[in-house]
Amino acid sequence: MAALKVGVIGTGHLGSLHAKLWKDVPSAVLAGVFDVNERRCAEIARATKSRAFASLGALLAAVDAVSVVTPTSTHAAIAGEAIAAGKHVFIEKPITRTEEEAGALIRAAKEKKVKIQVGHIERFNPAILALESYRIRPMFVESHRLAQFNPRSTDVDVVLDLMIHDIDIIVSLVGSPVEKVDANGVAVVSENLDIANARIQFANGCVANVTASRISRKKMRKMRLFQRDAYISVDFLAGESEVFRMVDGPDAASGGTKKLGEIRTGSGKKTIVYQKPKIKKINPLGYELAQFVNAILLDKDPPVTGEDGLLALNVAHRILASIREQKLPA
Ligand code: NAD
Repeated sequence: MAALKVGVIGTGHLGSLHAKLWKDVPSAVLAGVFDVNERRCAEIARATKSRAFASLGALLAAVDAVSVVTPTSTHAAIAGEAIAAGKHVFIEKPITRTEEEAGALIRAAKEKKVKIQVGHIERFNPAILALESYRIRPMFVESHRLAQFNPRSTDVDVVLDLMIHDIDIIVSLVGSPVEKVDANGVAVVSENLDIANARIQFANGCVANVTASRISRKKMRKMRLFQRDAYISVDFLAGESEVFRMVDGPDAASGGTKKLGEIRTGSGKKTIVYQKPKIKKINPLGYELAQFVNAILLDKDPPVTGEDGLLALNVAHRILASIREQKLPA
């Protein structure tokens, strides 16, 4: 089968990484890059030994699929043009700025029979991949994603920039509709919200308390998941997870399971066991690009579809609406 010809649109911070990683994705070949900043475009084309295209149209004419890695506010127009030209699109997160834009892209992709994958990269974080063999059904989630200030991505609120990573993970793990959202946030440094907290209530009773900040002194990306008989701690920065479980009787101390102690509960004696799941040594961005190629070549749904991107965006907008409501004068 001929290799899939791919192009990267937007060669800034993340786009340059896309271009470099595309070189190593099996069954794909980087045809070239395009950026409105010609100097940057030429620099990344040189670094990746690919071609700097002079226009979006010229790049689209030369490829089968693209990575859209431009500022979020431009995703709808650029991905829309790529889809209209019959190209598969990998769109960095968030899929678009508005739900209407995302809906239009999903409909257009269906019509043109092309794939959309959204760059919710934390799904491919080794810390999350390591939990694949566990039954994760959280009833309470606490998450913190704290970053230092960086003017990049301040074209959108911290909810669409950072919190959306955790929203996507939580919504995909809980697997139940969002019933209610209460949130608050403040624009401290930029013109948009820089710090926000949301309490998301799901129809199955699960509650997630989610905090995101881009004005913190120290980085932190942690999620704690609590469910019947288990507590799971995920560290996205370190790329590792820990699982604490209560089991009946002495658990088989195999597969790196450690016995931490015993506890007497209403239903009898339980053993507390601890496990640090084995981590796959992968590059999450390279891995998600490879999954996108697989989905195209095997004609199957990508692991993070346009609909997934829209669902995360919908919850993000409900959070933003709740923040606006809190601010209305009494
Ligand atoms: P950036 O500002 O570093 O780069 C954006 C690039 O797009 C710039 O080089 C700019 O010249 C170019 N550009 C702007 N408008 C364009 C247009 N119309 N056509 C072609 N090129 C255009 O931004 P970034 O940090 O690389 O972010 C890009 C996207 O990636 C954003 O949507 C952001 O949310 C997303 N992102 C995702 C993650 C993640 O963890 N998955 C991390 C960072 C950024």
